[in-house]
Amino acid sequence: MIQNARSCGVKAFLIPGADPKDLPKAIQLSEKYDEVFFAVGVHPYDCENYNLSLLEKYVTHPKCIAVGECGLDYFRLPKDNEEKKKNIQLQKEVFISQIQFAKKVQKPLIVHIRDASNDSKTILMEHDAKEVGGVLHCFNASEHLLELSNHNFYFGIGGVITFKNAKKLIEILPKIAQDKIIIETDGPYLTPHPFRGERNEPKYTNNIAQRIAEILNLSIEDIENLTTSNAKKLFKEFSSIN
Ligand SMILES: [Zn+2]
Repeated sequence: MIQNARSCGVKAFLIPGADPKDLPKAIQLSEKYDEVFFAVGVHPYDCENYNLSLLEKYVTHPKCIAVGECGLDYFRLPKDNEEKKKNIQLQKEVFISQIQFAKKVQKPLIVHIRDASNDSKTILMEHDAKEVGGVLHCFNASEHLLELSNHNFYFGIGGVITFKNAKKLIEILPKIAQDKIIIETDGPYLTPHPFRGERNEPKYTNNIAQRIAEILNLSIEDIENLTTSNAKKLFKEFSSIN
């Protein structure tokens, strides 16, 4: 997978944290390959297993360059009203704790937001996440979130932009400040057209760049340069890779 990505021009990789159980695998890859980095974080789906001391332990690794995925996801909430309230409350606590942690260790955030744009934006602003900034990964095309561009947040664009039904995202893309656009995979999910159904891999980021170029009326080289330089601004350690 790394060879394929290299031959398609991918220079660096960031493996986001989701389930702490998978961290040793990410660390192993980051130790084997210069251009592989990782992040530590607990995804909202795993907020019941949140353990700050585990994050504290892994964050000291030299290849750990970000905190996340963390955030809010109201897509799959419990049906029972009490349970639902409890889950939302816990998600918020775990998210805030990780924002504070990111500020303490001075690393940018990888933020996951699904069906929770208002609460996520409020929390990011109230807790001064601007201090470290981050990426709104798989940007959900919510107009409401564009304002975070002024708060040191970048917008992760993935395979969805290549889908025929991505009307909202295609419409909003030109409204995102160009110095805040970043390309991502969300692998193994959200494989770009025409490879939908296959496992998503970093080599397909070319298809995403191509589609962004078409929509913004720029050349693919422009998009490559722009998104590479944006990624290096946010994830400073990427600059060590040529
Ligand atoms: Zn996510």
